[in-house]
Amino acid sequence: MNAFIGKIFVIFCMLCASGVQAQELRALSSVDTENSRIFDRIFGGINIELSLSQGIPFRIFTKSAPNRIIMDFRELEWNSAQASSIVDTEIVGDLRFGVFQPGWTRLVLPISEPLVVNQAKLELDAETGKAQLSVKLGRTDQQAFDAAAGVQPDKEWAITPVEFDVTPRERQKGDRPIVVAIDPGHGGLDPGAVVGKYQEKELVLIFARELRENLAKTGRYDAFLTREQDVFMSLTGRISHARKGNADLLISLHADALAEGSASGITVYTLSDKASNEAAEQLATQLDRSDLLSGVDLTDQDEAVTSVLMDLARLETNARSTSLAGELVTGIATATQRSRSRPQLAAAFTVLKAPDIPSVLIELGFLTNKRDLRNLLNPEWRRYVQQGILQGLNVWGVNDAAQARLLRK
Ligand SMILES: [Zn+2]
Repeated sequence: MNAFIGKIFVIFCMLCASGVQAQELRALSSVDTENSRIFDRIFGGINIELSLSQGIPFRIFTKSAPNRIIMDFRELEWNSAQASSIVDTEIVGDLRFGVFQPGWTRLVLPISEPLVVNQAKLELDAETGKAQLSVKLGRTDQQAFDAAAGVQPDKEWAITPVEFDVTPRERQKGDRPIVVAIDPGHGGLDPGAVVGKYQEKELVLIFARELRENLAKTGRYDAFLTREQDVFMSLTGRISHARKGNADLLISLHADALAEGSASGITVYTLSDKASNEAAEQLATQLDRSDLLSGVDLTDQDEAVTSVLMDLARLETNARSTSLAGELVTGIATATQRSRSRPQLAAAFTVLKAPDIPSVLIELGFLTNKRDLRNLLNPEWRRYVQQGILQGLNVWGVNDAAQARLLRK
């Protein structure tokens, strides 16, 4: 029995207001952080005690590589800092908490040793309406852990499936607005880089909204965001979203942290099996790891991407992505009057794997760099960069349309 699924608490299921959009959500329940605790058990393993303002459907399951416990709740109000404060055991590492999908919140607990769910129960106080969620996890070995890991498919908790439409989209030929999918990195339980009170997921969302505004104003672009809110979205889910929106191109926005503190300035990345340098490779791995930790299994998704790839003109798209990246670098350097030594790099970024949509990833800067952070917080700097992106797109759009017209003759 590896997954204790909240639907056994049938009485709460009437609370599952499905179809409610994230922006309208008011969480169903909140955690009384003061009276909640995650602590060691006397004979090994841990207990999780959560004091909730009211009962809600939940489920718990485990995942390996890396070992972690995942708990999903229907709309629970809490945050990562509060959740971290209840951890009183060495077994649990840096946890994450946040919106996973509209209507769902997820708690991810990385664990340093394999554990198995022995018991999970939700008890209601008839008088106050409050609920106590108690989970007991006992020791197990890695083999048993691996065997039990995973979650039973369940309609009620189904992740919006990643759909791949293999119909190639007609290339833009300059006779209609160019559709731009703007992809703010991270979101929900995945904050991206965090420096002090600043979180990458928020900074890139602000930038993305402004960029959409500035592109739309020209009348030459239709722009939309892959995520409008502070909600988690898998890397392949972002591609799927871009394709559903009939995007002509995808721009993914990030402002990551790099271990080597020297990284700074804007870099535009394209997809490649071979990374341009160590930092590029490190970034690509870091982004995939975010998905992995949040409970998305990349191996399955990667296969889905690969099978689509075989049927489509990937080479053509790669060439278009590279020229797009080049024009963006030129546009941004002109608009900001700055250039870097290596502003255009490549690595195996999953989010750039759409076989038929030219895709680039812009690192707007590194949160770990003081000047970059200052820039990101400066509306004037952001406007310059957005103008630079616009200029780059203008040049690319004209060239790309001319090329498409030639190809069709
Ligand atoms: Zn990032």
